[in-house]
Amino acid sequence: MKRIGIVVFYLLSGLIARAQDLTVIKEVNVISMKDSGVLRNKSVWIERGKITGINNRVPGNNRVCRVIEGKGKYLIPGLMDMHAHFFYEQGDHRNTNEKELKTMLANGLTTVRIMAGHPSYLEAREKVSRGEWNGPKLYVASPQMVGRWPWSPKFENFGLVTTPEEARDKVFRFKKEGYDEIKITFMVKKEVYDAIFEAAREAGIKVTGHVGPMVKLPWALKQKGQIEHMDEFIDMLLPDSSYNHGESVSDMNLWRQNAWATVPHLMEDKIPSVAQEVKKAGIYVTPTNYFFLSCFGSEQTEQYIKYKPDYPYIPEELLAERWQIRQRRLDMRIPESSLEKYRRIRHRLVGELWKAGVPLMAGSDSPEWFLVPGFSIHDELESFVKSGLSPYAALQTATVNTSRYLGTPGSKGMIDKDFDADLILLDGNPLEDIRNTRSIHGVLKEGKWYDRKTLDEFLGK
Ligand SMILES: [Zn+2]
Repeated sequence: MKRIGIVVFYLLSGLIARAQDLTVIKEVNVISMKDSGVLRNKSVWIERGKITGINNRVPGNNRVCRVIEGKGKYLIPGLMDMHAHFFYEQGDHRNTNEKELKTMLANGLTTVRIMAGHPSYLEAREKVSRGEWNGPKLYVASPQMVGRWPWSPKFENFGLVTTPEEARDKVFRFKKEGYDEIKITFMVKKEVYDAIFEAAREAGIKVTGHVGPMVKLPWALKQKGQIEHMDEFIDMLLPDSSYNHGESVSDMNLWRQNAWATVPHLMEDKIPSVAQEVKKAGIYVTPTNYFFLSCFGSEQTEQYIKYKPDYPYIPEELLAERWQIRQRRLDMRIPESSLEKYRRIRHRLVGELWKAGVPLMAGSDSPEWFLVPGFSIHDELESFVKSGLSPYAALQTATVNTSRYLGTPGSKGMIDKDFDADLILLDGNPLEDIRNTRSIHGVLKEGKWYDRKTLDEFLGK
């Protein structure tokens, strides 16, 4: 008798555990991202982290499960930021990774690629995947490959590569250490650039990052790496070589006065053909446009910067340096006509890349400037719409496109049966106004529900 009792107890507790794992979002408008339509008033069933059904059934009283009221709300896939960093690599290197991951999640990010690797980021990736930390699924690019490192070597998130041999060694080392991709940043020479790609193909790891003035776009397109920031795209708009123009405003040259002097000479009618060249190479591009437009393309007032939701989340000890960088930027005294042309060109580049069919990916490049990971993804989405993308296409840059790039097209980036339950419940329809991606009512990450109250706690509200 006693034994039967134990058996019954285990059966029942198993059933209850299973039922508790069942979540239903009821009567919700689903933006599945399979197409640009909206599925009205659906129940989305979630079990063990996966979407098990989307239908008209309403959960009955006989089932014990969590029911989330979705009436009048909109469900979109969790957002992905393809270009983020942690604050750890700045200032005197205070590790606040865990806290920052919560800020990301509270802003609807369920996948994030960290762009300049460090062992502590690999650790963060593992802690999230084991469920010890709350946060988005992380991909961690390698320590950045650079030709020179003029800053403090104290924080090792870089690898010096001055020869093809060094490049080869580092690619294999970073792959072995567990990084997801190889990241290229500054001052890498052509032959080193090529050696990185060659070794990466051999090691079976993707390459992403900058294109410097020593490499330039046509050379980079031959290697078909994934390009960040649209580096060197603008240099393609320079008049032909008979004009002694020097280098334009790409990569680190953005900080050089004589690079800005080329802007009045840039030929905007070359933009469509540049987009075609990029399309032919078949690569993915992360424009990180909002960052460039706010730091270099405009002169945001102090009041505006302080008003942004990001501002309170910049660590106190980093603020002074931030304001110094802004002053340095203002001291460049770039004529408004050049700033305007720069803004127009960057928006037109994004628009033409999209029209040409280049897969674009959302990346915030936070915490550069006054941007903070999480908040800034919404600015980037808005920036895509300003470049001429539809709100639906803008959403694709942070869902389906990114998922395809990351090799998870069957499990992330869409709302469909058997997909991971990475979801955001919104109060407003982002297809009507992209700014509605900010109206977050709750987030599901692999089936785990975070309501508004929890998200506010994450944000320290
Ligand atoms: Zn970056």
